[in-house]
Amino acid sequence: MIVDNDCLFCKIVAKEVPATIVHETERTLAFRDINPQAPTHVLVIPKEHYRDAAALAAADDGLADEVIMAAHRIAEAEEVAAEGYRLVFNTGPAAGQTVFHVHGHLIGGRGLNWPPG
Ligand code: 5GP
Repeated sequence: MIVDNDCLFCKIVAKEVPATIVHETERTLAFRDINPQAPTHVLVIPKEHYRDAAALAAADDGLADEVIMAAHRIAEAEEVAAEGYRLVFNTGPAAGQTVFHVHGHLIGGRGLNWPPG
């Protein structure tokens, strides 16, 4: 498994940094964002380290599917799936990516504007 010892989210996977974990499978982990932007704001990641969504899809597209399915299951568990939710993968600095371990932001529980800022 690819691990980056300097990566914050790898440290959350290793349980070296605490997080409020809401869902875990063999290859994925989901935890609440420390600075939530909506009533539901969960980060869904592969446990293995890939810097962004493109790197994940290029390396193992089955794992990308697992991340998306995990997000949907969490949306159902949080009761935001029926109303609608957003799953955002900021990719690169201009898009606002600050943590370079791929993560989907599952955001729901309030109305969301389009286009995003
Ligand atoms: P990005 O800007 O890379 O798309 O998203 C990174 C997200 O990680 C941000 O929404 C930020 O609030 C969240 N975050 C940063 N540090 C921590 C942390 O230590 N724990 C948790 N749970 N979330 C974090």
